[in-house]
Amino acid sequence: MNKNHPSTEPQSNDWYTERFISEGSSIGLQLTQTLHKEQSAFQSIEIYETSHFGNLLVLDGCIMLTEKDNFIYHEMMAHPALFSHPSPSQVAIIGGGDCGTLKEVLKHKDVEKVVQVEIDQRVTELCQRFFPQLCESNNDPRAEFYFGDGIQWVEGTPNNSLDLLIIDSTDPVGPAEGLFSQGFYQACFEALKPGGVLVLQSESPFYHSHTIIKDMKLKLKACGFENSITRLFPQPVYPSGWWSCTASYKSAPQGSNEHAMKRAKTFATDYYNAEIHFASQAQPEFMR
Ligand code: SAM
Repeated sequence: MNKNHPSTEPQSNDWYTERFISEGSSIGLQLTQTLHKEQSAFQSIEIYETSHFGNLLVLDGCIMLTEKDNFIYHEMMAHPALFSHPSPSQVAIIGGGDCGTLKEVLKHKDVEKVVQVEIDQRVTELCQRFFPQLCESNNDPRAEFYFGDGIQWVEGTPNNSLDLLIIDSTDPVGPAEGLFSQGFYQACFEALKPGGVLVLQSESPFYHSHTIIKDMKLKLKACGFENSITRLFPQPVYPSGWWSCTASYKSAPQGSNEHAMKRAKTFATDYYNAEIHFASQAQPEFMR
């Protein structure tokens, strides 16, 4: 997952091991089969079948997701922000080509339109083939697919036109580097309506609290976002096994209280619920 820490090819025929060199650690998954390998116009794409985690997607040597644990990340990228907006109607996802976040967003009846802006069409095509359960809402008439650079797309979006903007990106290198820049956050701020919310995948609280997450929050504040909440959750196949997303609010969050949220959540989830919504906001001492 983390391109700051170059990974290796599988060390034997049986395991995929991603090494995080600067942290002196790694994550390994036992493989049963190679399903697909290609070099797209943007990145290397590998898909494996694993013994215990279902199918595995790897981009440029970084683990992106497995069938077994992706629900935690995708639910946390979508639901806390959607439930803290009073009427999220116009949504855009930048990146997110596996379509898992899109599927979660579409569970919300208030959402009238979601545009997914993915730079690499091959990621989406291959996920439709190898991760069909993530793509099961792709034919929802509210979903629109645009294949191109998310930075240019946001810059070209009319001011005050989106309720929610989700940045479901790879790590801050290559085509995703600009998705972590202050210029991009400013373009997101302008594209959001008053009361709009920007959600960013914000890497590992254990490894990146004092680097990527701190830097991100300073930049978001400088762009005018009123406040930012970093939510923490487990993610077994990402570096440290612990991940985060950061929601930035153009004005103070107005969403549901716990009871209202329980009533509003009319659909099934496997991780997210009203208690997780609040518990995930708690910050450990080393992050304060
Ligand atoms: N859940 C994942 C994670 O945190 O590892 C993210 C997965 S999703 C597949 C990330 C997607 O962002 C990739 O498919 C990649 O092609 C896309 N991406 C990277 N840079 C982009 C850009 N500038 N514009 C649009 N999409 C981009």
